Amino acid sequence: MPTLAELLETSSAQHRHLCPRQVLGVRMGLYAGELLGLALPQTDKRLYTFVETDGCGADGISVATNCWIGRRTLHVEDLGKVAATFVDTLTGRTLRLAPRADVRQAARALAPEARNPWEAQLLGYQRLPAAAMFSVQPVRLTTPVEAYLSHAGHRVQCARCGEEVMNEREVELNGVALCRTCAGPAYYAPVEAEAPTPAAFLQLGAAISS
Ligand SMILES: [Zn+2]
Ligand SMILES: [Zn+2]
Repeated sequence: MPTLAELLETSSAQHRHLCPRQVLGVRMGLYAGELLGLALPQTDKRLYTFVETDGCGADGISVATNCWIGRRTLHVEDLGKVAATFVDTLTGRTLRLAPRADVRQAARALAPEARNPWEAQLLGYQRLPAAAMFSVQPVRLTTPVEAYLSHAGHRVQCARCGEEVMNEREVELNGVALCRTCAGPAYYAPVEAEAPTPAAFLQLGAAISS
């Protein structure tokens, strides 16, 4: 099992820096594994994690757990919180971990040599016992984890835009399958201006060189 120092090295190598949130994320992931009795970082897909924000904390969690967006074992439910819910997909045991409200002060107390709050957190988060850092709450998902996982190979074509939709993310409307963009509400809208054509680029190049 890799040590915290090794995991932090992996995490900071991806960020070109080590910061308190990565430490918090790595510690949170490791603690979840300990509480669920899972050996982490996992080599399979047994653990599924919901992170409640993107950024450094999320990557710390990924490094510790080996749950990644690319492996379909991580879901970002963006609530702007450094918190996460860990699901043992074999037993269904589900725990939500969040930093305790006083975790910054607790870190400060364990890092008296720190020159500023940032450094106090960076060091303190590596020294605090996990139970003093995180609250742990057994929870139940309102949408079963199976719906997030879906079935491998499931794909349909949207009846309106023709794009392929995987993982059962389509919706049925009047008996036809639509992507969620066509069914609405969409997260983007087309703009009126047309994308530059290759000809426009050539004209621009000629204008610059003349
Ligand atoms: Zn960072
Ligand atoms: Zn569509």
